[in-house]
Amino acid sequence: MTSAVNAQELSDLRSLSARIGHNPDLIQAAGGNTSLKTGDTLWIKASGTWLKDAVAEDIMVPVTMSPLLSAVQRRDQAADEPQAFTDEALNPRGLRPSIETTVHALMPHRVVLHVHCVQTISLAVQANCEAEVAKRLGDHRWAFVPYFRPGLPLALAIAELLRPGIDVLILGNHGLVVAAETVAEAEVLLRRITTLLTRPARRARDPDLDALRALAGDSDYCLPTDIEAHATAIDPESLRIAQAGSLYPDHVIFLGPGSVVANPGEDVARVVERCRVAPMSILFPGIGVLMHGDAGASAHALQRCLADVTARIDPAASLNYLTEVETNELVNWDAEQYRQKLNGAA
Ligand SMILES: [Zn+2]
Repeated sequence: MTSAVNAQELSDLRSLSARIGHNPDLIQAAGGNTSLKTGDTLWIKASGTWLKDAVAEDIMVPVTMSPLLSAVQRRDQAADEPQAFTDEALNPRGLRPSIETTVHALMPHRVVLHVHCVQTISLAVQANCEAEVAKRLGDHRWAFVPYFRPGLPLALAIAELLRPGIDVLILGNHGLVVAAETVAEAEVLLRRITTLLTRPARRARDPDLDALRALAGDSDYCLPTDIEAHATAIDPESLRIAQAGSLYPDHVIFLGPGSVVANPGEDVARVVERCRVAPMSILFPGIGVLMHGDAGASAHALQRCLADVTARIDPAASLNYLTEVETNELVNWDAEQYRQKLNGAA
């Protein structure tokens, strides 16, 4: 960071990152990332860190862009490990750049914001996503990118679809990217697009907390941090949608594949016996959700996210779920295991 202008802009980006990082409609746990380009250096959020900590902690890592972009162009697997491209002299904490670094490097704009916006995800899992987004964004230049694993596969798909003037990407089963020349313009664009994509959530009844405590018995299962999380189990449409599979990567990473739903009459002990392993969370239809005692802050955040996403999905829409192959490649992926470890998500 040589000039005062760049230092100010990076400081502005960190403030914006912390703001959006505190908004559960945009960011959950260590998800999402932001970046700023200065010359050939891309400052990007470090893998496994939380955007909400962007002001309190030093979470931005410098990456040298030209060799990384050449690796993407050659389809070189090296581009899937962006830590090899960090400027170590400017990275005293030795942090790894985000696994989504290539996505940021590919966008020509100076500032890129990638968020796991619940409004966007709720549309991006519907098979009719493109038509629904087109209705809402009008003549804005945007592109829909079908689901690919974050990292090099997603970057290659984006490289194929990018056209001059596109500053919004809707990532299938994943989230939203907006890009602009300044931090202020990026924030305005993010607000504009997320507002246009907003759909109301179906309202669910309150959870039955006494019944949940009784179902937990003497197990170490506990209530979710956010009361909003219960809605997935209470709203019949949300429950049906959640029960059918995994909708986006961070759900698989932090909660495990799919959702475990209790059968009538089953308490925690019975569900664990049936599953043979204790699931990260259990949905009790019409009653609410219980979380495993070992569930970390990331798992709690993603459990709430599931309620926020499913409550906005059109019950009549046909949905795209992650396939078994896609789920397995997330679970077995070294970069994700690193991110999980940093988050104590075990
Ligand atoms: Zn993402």
